[in-house]
Amino acid sequence: MSRILVVEDEAAIAELVLLNLRHAGHDVALAASAEQAQAEVDAMLPDLIVLDWMLPGQSGLALARRWRDSQRTRGLPIIMLTARTQEVDKIAGLDAGADDYLVKPFSTQELLARIRALLRRKAPETLGETVTIDALSVDPATRRVTAQGRELRLGPTEFRLLHYLMTHAERVHSRKQLLDRVWGDHVFIEERTVDVHVKRLRDALAPAHRESMIETVRGVGYMLPRENGKS
Ligand code: CA
Repeated sequence: MSRILVVEDEAAIAELVLLNLRHAGHDVALAASAEQAQAEVDAMLPDLIVLDWMLPGQSGLALARRWRDSQRTRGLPIIMLTARTQEVDKIAGLDAGADDYLVKPFSTQELLARIRALLRRKAPETLGETVTIDALSVDPATRRVTAQGRELRLGPTEFRLLHYLMTHAERVHSRKQLLDRVWGDHVFIEERTVDVHVKRLRDALAPAHRESMIETVRGVGYMLPRENGKS
């Protein structure tokens, strides 16, 4: 399930977008002004923001710029909504850091499709889709892990760790980053706990000869390559 923040001051449009996004299975929050939107983002980072350009007070454009300037919100996927159609405005929106842009009136089907495409690109782990690499499949909906028709047994932490590494493949993750992303922000756990769970994960993957998918990057952390040439 993805958390989506809709920033829109026109109640009718906000309501329509809210209903459609909820119907599509997203967890949706609404904000009717830049200040409300900032408060929502401060409280909890959404997975994606649908941001109206024209808002009372501070504009959506200024808000997008501010989010792009902050370390915490820099990577937030943003789809900008606007009634303007001129090319110059589209460029201003994309310059301010919007990832995509939709002109009003838009079809909710198109908005849903754009949201899905953007999440797939920037936050695939929130879509709840099965991820497959090197014939190893992880299905977050059923929490099943299979390799060539064989089901593998993983503990809950190993499952989250594998899902995170597979949805963020080809990147080296430090132990500290893995603790933040897989264990949660506010938990104090020693970094070597990560090594313990990586070992358990490799053991769980061994029956399908997939243990070498989790590579140790000496002095840095771990990574899962998209293509595994070793096995
Ligand atoms: Ca508006």
